[in-house]
Amino acid sequence: LETDRTYTRVLLKLSGEVFGGGQVGVDPDVVKSIAQQIAAAARSGVQIAVVIGGGNFFRGAELQTKGMDRVRADYMGMLGIVMNCLALQDFLEKEDIDTRVQTAITMGQVAEPYIPRRAIRHMEKGRVVIFGAGMGMPFFSTDTVAVQRALESRCEIVLVGKSGVDGVYTADPKKDPNATLIEELTYQEAVEKDLRVMDQTAFALCAENKLPMVVFGMEGEGNITRALQGERIGTLVAP
Ligand code: UDP
Repeated sequence: LETDRTYTRVLLKLSGEVFGGGQVGVDPDVVKSIAQQIAAAARSGVQIAVVIGGGNFFRGAELQTKGMDRVRADYMGMLGIVMNCLALQDFLEKEDIDTRVQTAITMGQVAEPYIPRRAIRHMEKGRVVIFGAGMGMPFFSTDTVAVQRALESRCEIVLVGKSGVDGVYTADPKKDPNATLIEELTYQEAVEKDLRVMDQTAFALCAENKLPMVVFGMEGEGNITRALQGERIGTLVAP
């Protein structure tokens, strides 16, 4: 089994739902705690890119079931993500961590546009880069964006922070009392056993490009820092 290791550059994916603390909007206490954990890892020298979801504001597919046009609803979803990014930027800067938000939809007053090479430069200078507005395209998920951004900005691994679960299980732990946490598996095993780790597009992109992924629970004390610093928590999905 793989042990702890030190990363040079990582991509952290956080679900939007956590930012809302269970409600619509942003819960500043939660965002502050997340920022403090990211800041601790940044101070120790890990280069960090972050991709956040927007489930605490809008999900395109959900709005579609309530009668909205999918494309317009997805754009609302992407704009919601940007609000999460600005909240995280604010709390990171309160921790004295230089931070840049780069959005896939241009909005010069609030963020830089997505410029991959510039993002890498920021990280080399110790700045945390937050990629916002998803891919800028409807019909994509934040999971897929996380993998794409990790690949393009040459991160070694994608760290997927989950809420309510601390890794990949043999079955749904909420339904099956015998479900156990899997500490390590390959992409092939995940497909064979039909373990839904991430959405399929994201998963395929990771597997095809041999990008490792760690799925961990965000709720445990200091878990985000631990994951960013290379501690072996949750489940490692290796190529
Ligand atoms: N979204 C999109 N394209 C993207 C990323 C996100 O259209 O590249 C929209 C989509 O409507 C999605 C919403 O933004 O439902 C919020 O993202 P997601 O549901 O992935 O957030 P999470 O579940 O991670 O909080």
